[in-house]
Amino acid sequence: MPALTKALVTDSLAPVLPAGSLQWVSACDTYASIRVHLPSAAEPPTLNALAAKAKAAIESASAPLDSFIVEYVDSHGSLLHTSRFGAMNPPPPASTGSPAGGHEPIRGLGPTPQPAQQPTQRPGPSAQPTPQQAAGALPGVKHIIAVGAGKGGVGKSTIAVNLAVGLARRGHAVGLMDGDIYGPSLPTLLGLTGLDQSVLQGKLQPFYLHGIKAITIGKLVDAEKPLIWRGPMAHGAFKQLTEQTDWGELDYLVIDLPPGTGDISLTMAQLLQLTGAVVVCTPQKVAQDDAVRAARMFQQLGIEVLGVVENMSYFIADDLSPPREYDIFGRGGAEVMAQRLNLPFLGNVPLTISLRKNSDAGSPTNNFSPASSPLAAALEQLVTNVENQVALTGMRKGATKPSLTIR
Ligand code: ADP
Repeated sequence: MPALTKALVTDSLAPVLPAGSLQWVSACDTYASIRVHLPSAAEPPTLNALAAKAKAAIESASAPLDSFIVEYVDSHGSLLHTSRFGAMNPPPPASTGSPAGGHEPIRGLGPTPQPAQQPTQRPGPSAQPTPQQAAGALPGVKHIIAVGAGKGGVGKSTIAVNLAVGLARRGHAVGLMDGDIYGPSLPTLLGLTGLDQSVLQGKLQPFYLHGIKAITIGKLVDAEKPLIWRGPMAHGAFKQLTEQTDWGELDYLVIDLPPGTGDISLTMAQLLQLTGAVVVCTPQKVAQDDAVRAARMFQQLGIEVLGVVENMSYFIADDLSPPREYDIFGRGGAEVMAQRLNLPFLGNVPLTISLRKNSDAGSPTNNFSPASSPLAAALEQLVTNVENQVALTGMRKGATKPSLTIR
């Protein structure tokens, strides 16, 4: 079977979609998303039926898709309707009249219940209100996950990017925001060089690539000038990026925070009702101490810590055959730290030459193939663990009722 490529998707859709309506294609392994602007308005059942035809056309030219997302937009690029297919998004009956055609519509959660801290994560007996208690929801965004680290250089942005791409590959609608106002890395990690930021009707339009929507202050300022912000300016920049971006409907918004325990985290906690935070750490003792401070900071802000990721856990010399593993920094240090703090451990990501190269080249989807590589397996495990922790958080907050299906 031919591999799924953008060209294959474009060619196989030519007989299905009206000429000129296909605006954007993302394809990787068995995952594809497209953006379509139709010449005339149509109802959701018709749009879902068209999406099903598009999926069938791609599959007959390649192989069954694990995930397929069609975003229908108007002439301004604003989202009108989304049709989703995949293990997590069963295809809708085309005849239903529901607005999302049987797909779960993702709506703004409205004022969400106050976060219930896990008993083990309580910062202390104080009944002081946390900044999270005043925070609001971002309309249309189901889960907001912050990715933080105690110090710079541990791979926080790399983990944020790969988490976002990994979630998108499973059929979730995902946004990624570069909240690292002082040192934005997304332009490099996502390969945004040469692309211009566009604004429509006063809203920043996120870049669509690698299956995700992304926004970064790095595309709004001179890339080589240092960003010297006073506290209120940084607060304003973060608020603007968050609120003035045309995110559309998202299952997950991943926010890459600046390193350390600075004021952007406080701004975020005051503005946005978060599902939780992921703390990235390398195995060394000094990195753990900083990560403990970052975890404590999230807890003090009232943000649940979803868990700890150990990045650069061990080195894989993947240019050797067979690849060899070296425990350069002492694998397992972050896991021990997570246990000590009674926090979930979300996984080990190895230090690999290919991850560094793919990051420099702005090609994160390459990290997920071949699926048999230790790096891809580690990233998939991380994504699974984050999904599970998000589901558990939902249950704790009473948003998701556990259900048992007996066949
Ligand atoms: P941070 O956001 O914590 O400052 P970055 O994500 O920008 O760190 O990563 C710093 C550098 O390390 C980048 O060049 C990135 O490609 C590289 N890097 C991060 N994690 C890994 C890894 N597991 N394997 C190889 N290179 C990595």
